[in-house]
Amino acid sequence: RVERSGFIFVGPKPETIRLMGDKVSAIQAMHQAGVPCVPGSDGPIDNSNNKRTMEMAREIGYPVIIKAAGGGGGRGMRVVHSDATLLNAISLTKGEAGAAFGNDTVYMEKYLENPRHVEFQILADNYGNAIHLGERDCSMQRRHQKVIEEAPAPGITDEQRHFIGTRCAGACSSIGYRGVGTFEFLYQDDEFYFIEMNTRVQVEHPVTEMITGVDIVKEQLLIASGERLRYSQDEIKLSGHAIECRLNAEHPETFIPSPGRIDEFHAPGGPGIRLDTHIYSGYFVPPHYDSMIGKLIAHGEDRHSALARMCNALRETVIEGIHTTIPLHRQILKDAAFQQGGANIHYLEKKLGM
Ligand code: ADP
Repeated sequence: RVERSGFIFVGPKPETIRLMGDKVSAIQAMHQAGVPCVPGSDGPIDNSNNKRTMEMAREIGYPVIIKAAGGGGGRGMRVVHSDATLLNAISLTKGEAGAAFGNDTVYMEKYLENPRHVEFQILADNYGNAIHLGERDCSMQRRHQKVIEEAPAPGITDEQRHFIGTRCAGACSSIGYRGVGTFEFLYQDDEFYFIEMNTRVQVEHPVTEMITGVDIVKEQLLIASGERLRYSQDEIKLSGHAIECRLNAEHPETFIPSPGRIDEFHAPGGPGIRLDTHIYSGYFVPPHYDSMIGKLIAHGEDRHSALARMCNALRETVIEGIHTTIPLHRQILKDAAFQQGGANIHYLEKKLGM
């Protein structure tokens, strides 16, 4: 599956955790482990009891969102604002979910109108040990695809980090999870709401590596080969701030993929700058895959310094022959709300006039 590309049909994420089968069970397991979840139906919607369903929606409070238990990739969801459209929305979502995912189970959650996306990185070994590496803010999104990520998340306190991180690590121990993973939360009005767990290493993991000094891929391999976790929670210290810009071979305004030959490539450098990429002068970006051609990461002693380094690094980077999203990143970095930190998941699309 290709996550970001415009070329290939994006289906349900196979790697999204499906404890005992689906998201409903995953949420129930997290609930039991003390991870805060979105207020909701606490299980599948019972088709035969419409009266109870209506009551539930009122108890949760409109707007609510109807979600497919087997859904993924941002599909199989419908927001409902009042009683009048509730039952119809449920049957439409059920029908679509059955056809698309082969599972017509749906559940209900409170729809959060202006959340941020904040996720926690965890490491867990085969012997019941689990730790967290703090959180990332991935709220800068376009069509549910992350564009810029940073760590730590602006404004999250040590107490919040400790509270949520400890529960995520505890949940890993209680479900017997092994490997690296991410707990995704929506964050609104100082509250965290678990939405799903990603059971893999993610594109944005370098920002966490930069502020913790932990090589997440190395730890993943060591865990997979049966080693014990090499860090205790106390040994994890966050240092400074890191930000990642995803460099895509796309037009920066239309987002139309831009495959082709890279005529000239010059990488940025200097303190705190990391570029993860496979491209070189003369490289041909193929049209068949994901359009991501690199990840530019900047680390600094604080957010201000990380942003300043990122601005310089974006200016220094030369990729000629194809379009890239570098001009988009430069524009976002100049944006006052972004500079302030803590914008919500709708901010970028609004700014882009979508
Ligand atoms: P998927 O597996 O399809 O990615 P998620 O449960 O992670 O499904 O949700 C995808 C996106 O849908 C979230 O990042 C968020 O933007 C939106 N979303 C999901 N649940 C809610 C909710 N309860 N309130 C508001 N937005 C939501």
